[in-house]
Amino acid sequence: MINIDLESIFQKKSNHNNFAHIIIPTQIVPCELKIIKKNITKIWKKFISSKRDNFITLLENIGIQYKDLNNRKCCYCEEKIDFIDFFYLNSSLGIGKVLEIWQNNLILFYCNKCQLINDPF
Ligand SMILES: [Zn+2]
Repeated sequence: MINIDLESIFQKKSNHNNFAHIIIPTQIVPCELKIIKKNITKIWKKFISSKRDNFITLLENIGIQYKDLNNRKCCYCEEKIDFIDFFYLNSSLGIGKVLEIWQNNLILFYCNKCQLINDPF
């Protein structure tokens, strides 16, 4: 058990600036953020490719009913696009943003095959 003397901490607070040793300055620079996002993407991709069914359970545990999500088809060939595959490719955006895009009926999707045909690069 950790024994913390709260009274002494509050007494020190009254002396001003004595909380400085508790507060650790955090600086996140853009390149670190990029690395963090890359690592998060790796974790999601590993999780989805190894435990696809568990991903559906995870969604349900955070209040997202997989069966209630929009059904999507490729706007060119009409092939079904699965939310999990869409999230797999876009996990760096975060689940909230990916879900927002997925549920927006104004946004059209195309499948990987049609992307290859239509992508000039
Ligand atoms: Zn297609």
